Amino acid sequence: MPGVLLVISGPSGVGKSTVVAELRERRRFHFSVSATTRERRPDETDDVDYHFVTVDRFKHMIEDGELLEWAEYAGRYYGTPRQPVLLEIQAGNDVLLDIENQGAMQVRASWPEALLIFIAPPSLDELERRLRSRGDTPEADIAARLSVSAEQVEQARCDYDRVVTNQDVDAVTAEILDILAEHEQGTQ
Ligand code: 5GP
Repeated sequence: MPGVLLVISGPSGVGKSTVVAELRERRRFHFSVSATTRERRPDETDDVDYHFVTVDRFKHMIEDGELLEWAEYAGRYYGTPRQPVLLEIQAGNDVLLDIENQGAMQVRASWPEALLIFIAPPSLDELERRLRSRGDTPEADIAARLSVSAEQVEQARCDYDRVVTNQDVDAVTAEILDILAEHEQGTQ
């Protein structure tokens, strides 16, 4: 039986990476390593957190059809290499994508069996506080990310299979795993 393609999306600063890390602790997933043209942060490792590539290389990946989805976000390119995802799914392994909204919509269109979950913040005030306390996002980017986020939460209710609220990492992780189990039962 093929694995499930689980797409996790949500506004910047919602705590998505923490939830994704917790999901990976609690269940075996193949985590898709994205390609990006943004700079590596000090705590990140090339080919583990991302494949850090040049804009030229990224454009070649698009042209050669190497990406399952891709998007431009905050002035940088991000994309999911297609081949590893296909191989893992075919081998019966569940694959986890942590991607932004435009990419998630491309997966929706090209991969109808995928399970799309949107993580919403408890409130936009809380989201703003989290983005600031994280300290790695420039002030101008915070305003831009917040306005994108407000629109996204509204739209997500139509576009995603489920919207979950991140009040608490433990609770939201358990909720996502329950949704995944339900989804598997439905597709068996
Ligand atoms: P960051 O630069 O903070 O690591 O990620 C910024 C945003 O890009 C996050 O919302 C993250 O989920 C998203 N992202 C990471 N990889 C991909 C990808 O391969 N495709 C798309 N569409 N978004 C991605």
